[in-house]
Amino acid sequence: FLKLSEGISKTREQITKRIDGLLSSHSSLDDDFWEEFEEILIMADVGMEAANQLMENLKARAKKAGTDDPDDFKDILRAELEDIFKVPPRIEAVNPPEVLMMVGVNGVGKTTTIAKLAHRAQMQGRKVLIAAGDTFRAAAIEQLEVWANRIGAGFFAKAEGSDPAAVAYEAMDKAVAEGYDLLLLDTAGRLHTKINLMEELKKIERVVGKKHEGAPHRTILVIDATTGQNALSQTKLFNEAVGVDEIILTKLDGTAKGGVVVAVTLQNKLPITFVGLGEKMEDLRPFNGKDFAKALLT
Ligand code: GDP
Repeated sequence: FLKLSEGISKTREQITKRIDGLLSSHSSLDDDFWEEFEEILIMADVGMEAANQLMENLKARAKKAGTDDPDDFKDILRAELEDIFKVPPRIEAVNPPEVLMMVGVNGVGKTTTIAKLAHRAQMQGRKVLIAAGDTFRAAAIEQLEVWANRIGAGFFAKAEGSDPAAVAYEAMDKAVAEGYDLLLLDTAGRLHTKINLMEELKKIERVVGKKHEGAPHRTILVIDATTGQNALSQTKLFNEAVGVDEIILTKLDGTAKGGVVVAVTLQNKLPITFVGLGEKMEDLRPFNGKDFAKALLT
């Protein structure tokens, strides 16, 4: 298994090396120091808004600790990151089957992530049904079926072009009738028809909610770490339209710009629950802010 610290090695190299360089070339946390630190954050795709907020927080922390010493900076940054990531996941008692609605733009790794989640749940002894709610693309249905077969999960689909809400509704029926513990609902990710897509997602929520109390229990947004600031705008878009409960950030292994993790959390106050560190079904790690901060800064 790839450890988190290995999975984010590109980001780590980029950020840690540059921070070390910054610290060794400054004798105090002066304006010049903060300016260069901001550059590092921008390079790591933290984004302007989150970078500014982060720096304000760090300055306040340094002031409170009464230090101006670069030697203390990593500790301050680590403590701040740990606080940022302290977003509690929404936990609730669920009457099975638990229903997770998976949303996100095409190409971010949603299909792979569904497979990874299914695999993980099955490893924990849960019976998993995957429903192909992206009826817009025949390839999406096929790909999901290939994964379901490979993992040994249940699979439900209707013909291409079917109403996604009907897929969700019937999958819900099947999940209840056949005693599944977990239903993973794939949804479309065609952003060029944004309004239709959001209406479609809302309709899916309505019909599964009618069928099964509290469902979908969680709406999980999948975003791609390599798309940087796009990941941020997608989060805003989906969260405003359908209400996102959790985020899964994929392809963190493929980028030196993992700073987007900070931006996403800081700006949306949504928990990142898992990160994708590769293409295989095992390459999903629970995200823990403390471990991330530690992995990033040591
Ligand atoms: P979808 O269109 O959102 O369903 O995206 P897919 O699941 O088909 O994934 C798109 C591509 O990203 C595929 O080549 C996946 O193997 C790859 N991918 C998905 N997750 C990860 C990840 O965590 N790390 C890496 N390196 N590749 C990933």
